[in-house]
Amino acid sequence: MSALRITAVELFRAAIPMVAPFRIALGTVSQADYLFVRIDTDAGVSGWGEATPFSMITGDTQGTNLAAAVDLARLLLGEDPLDIEGRVDDMRRFLAFNSSARSAFDMALHDVAGKVAGLPLYALLGGSRRALATDRTIGLAAPERMAEQALELARSGVPAIKVKLGTTAREDVSRVDRIRAAIGGELPLRVDANQGWDFPTAVGVLTRLESSGIEYCEQPVARWDHDSLRRLRQRVSVPIMADESLFDHHDAFELLAGDCCDYLNIKLAKSGGIHTALQVNAVAEARGIACMLGCMMETRLGLTAAAHLASARRNVRYADLDGHYQLAEDPIGGGARWDAGTITLPDAPGIGAEVDPGFLARCERTRIA
Ligand code: MG
Repeated sequence: MSALRITAVELFRAAIPMVAPFRIALGTVSQADYLFVRIDTDAGVSGWGEATPFSMITGDTQGTNLAAAVDLARLLLGEDPLDIEGRVDDMRRFLAFNSSARSAFDMALHDVAGKVAGLPLYALLGGSRRALATDRTIGLAAPERMAEQALELARSGVPAIKVKLGTTAREDVSRVDRIRAAIGGELPLRVDANQGWDFPTAVGVLTRLESSGIEYCEQPVARWDHDSLRRLRQRVSVPIMADESLFDHHDAFELLAGDCCDYLNIKLAKSGGIHTALQVNAVAEARGIACMLGCMMETRLGLTAAAHLASARRNVRYADLDGHYQLAEDPIGGGARWDAGTITLPDAPGIGAEVDPGFLARCERTRIA
């Protein structure tokens, strides 16, 4: 068959208010900003992707994403969308960092490829549709308020709860103690300090929580502080998961060569998309390290893409794909379905999710053709 060509790219700028302000150690967000990307081809097939910046982590914003996406669209126009390796390489060479903007294009290219092949994304990636369980996340608040929320989630049947920490040692220990007192000892807890601790605080809190049934702790110290991650692993029994320290496969190699963590948290907004996320997972698998698929504040479009990837790779042991619960509106048609903590993937070709036309009609749009 003759090569397909990318004929146009359409960018849609959107914002969705959150159900309630979401606070983590890095700051508070009350609105989620998006850039939806649609790649059109001369085969009449279009693919969808989503850029969801989390500026404190990804170092980009909706404004920088839009500027970057216009340039990325021009870079890809006329090129073969099925040569994903080639397109991702073009984007990496052209634009360093800007991972969430690049991830939207990577996602849309995978959507096109799945639709052309007639395969759902998990099958296109060579995997199967697995039963996926995701945790639910509780943002920072007073310990008693977080315990109430945990009890509500436990009663709803979620398989695990992720607890945001990273303020003071006293408050953080109190948060976990109160949550455990509310929900009992059975349900797994995961904690995430979002870089909020220094090394002594991390040692103190995690030592104190060693008997609290903590599956792992995400990013206890600053993203650049690999040495403290490594030393922390030697001091506490709670497994350490790198999140903000990890963007792409080069970071994965460095973290694992340095014995800095027990798990890696892959997010498409950090890796720059599915192609690089697969490389991160492969590096981890080579070292005998399992991964989690995590998220920012993606809509069900980005979350469904991430869930396909999680389903397709057995080395992805954990899923933290719950960002859409924070949103006051669901602008996505099709896509994965969430029932308590169980994710069911769609069987339609590609990602199997599209942005609702009525929602798009309200978005500022930019067309590059
Ligand atoms: Mg995290």
